[in-house]
Amino acid sequence: MRKYNFCAGPAALPEPVLQQAQLELMDWRGLGCSVMEVSHRSPEFVEVAERAEQDLRDLLKVPDNYKVLFLQGGATGQFSAIPWNLFGAGSKQADFIHSGQWAAKAIKEARRYGDVNVVATSEDRNFSYVPAQNSWQQSEGAAYLHYTPNETIGGIEFDYVPEVDCPLVADMSSNILSCPIDVEKFGVIYAGAQKNIGPSGIAVALVRDDLLDRAMKDIPRSLSWKVAADAGSMDNTPPTFAWYLSGLVFQWLKAQGGVEAMAQQAAKKSSLLYEFLDGSDFFSSPVEKSSRSRMNVPFVLADERLDKPFLQEAEAAGLLSLKGHRSVGGMRASLYNAVPFEAVKALVAFMADFEARKG
Ligand SMILES: *Cc1c(COP(=O)(O)O)cnc(C)c1O
Repeated sequence: MRKYNFCAGPAALPEPVLQQAQLELMDWRGLGCSVMEVSHRSPEFVEVAERAEQDLRDLLKVPDNYKVLFLQGGATGQFSAIPWNLFGAGSKQADFIHSGQWAAKAIKEARRYGDVNVVATSEDRNFSYVPAQNSWQQSEGAAYLHYTPNETIGGIEFDYVPEVDCPLVADMSSNILSCPIDVEKFGVIYAGAQKNIGPSGIAVALVRDDLLDRAMKDIPRSLSWKVAADAGSMDNTPPTFAWYLSGLVFQWLKAQGGVEAMAQQAAKKSSLLYEFLDGSDFFSSPVEKSSRSRMNVPFVLADERLDKPFLQEAEAAGLLSLKGHRSVGGMRASLYNAVPFEAVKALVAFMADFEARKG
């Protein structure tokens, strides 16, 4: 029995993708073994890898002067890879927008290698809003500016792309592929797969090709975008099963109507939940209206003592993983691409019933 899964990550995958993987598991393409058991250099796997890249390029309209890299080490690996790859051409200074816990981790890692200038922060109101661009203090000569378009834990999402005169680097782990983006505005876009791309174990980076020669001299080979780009992301053995599954997700996304359709779905799903929260005296959203994420919806109950019964009853009703992040408490519903509208309808119906009984 499949249940409705609101996990923040690793998150729900599209059912047809899981079904196809199941169907192909014992005997992939008539080879008599699974995709996990063939060489990453076999023509069959190379075709999977190339198709995944092409489908991702089609979905996000990635221009030809960007490399599409499939990497290991997750988004956290990129927190280290970014300074290593971009601090080698003179400036070892980076601008950061501090919008919450993921931004904080990226900042902490960059500080190991250079100077970090926090150009804007929403810390004053507990990271419950997106700082407006006109409040920023950008520095001169920064190697890049880093921001987190969607803060997965705090549940805030930028509704604009920053205008900067240095390469813009974005951690899109939790909102990539949920709406069209203008890739040309970015120097680097990266994402851990386990929210909106595929299973954990793989990360994707889109890197504008003029940024490939800015690495620090002693960069670890496994963090180098240039090495990955030159080797077609196969300098060493890649996570082949995760790459294959991500490719199936890209095919599924295309069949659903691409990122435009995902944007419509995301608006529909998140507004249903936010409208319910705003109309309730019992549940509420801690995030300012103009900054609310379409992907991750934190909410709290008026009476904390009901948190536990709420979670227990939700789980019994087939609604999984609604517990908020351990650092903030409360609840969180993650509404990534693979979470169907019916799941949100079921969640809202459950919450209305819970409120009627306990509120
Ligand atoms: C989940 C997440 C990360 C961390 O991803 P890992 O792949 O576990 O390293 C980083 N940034 C954001 C915005 C995330 O949502």
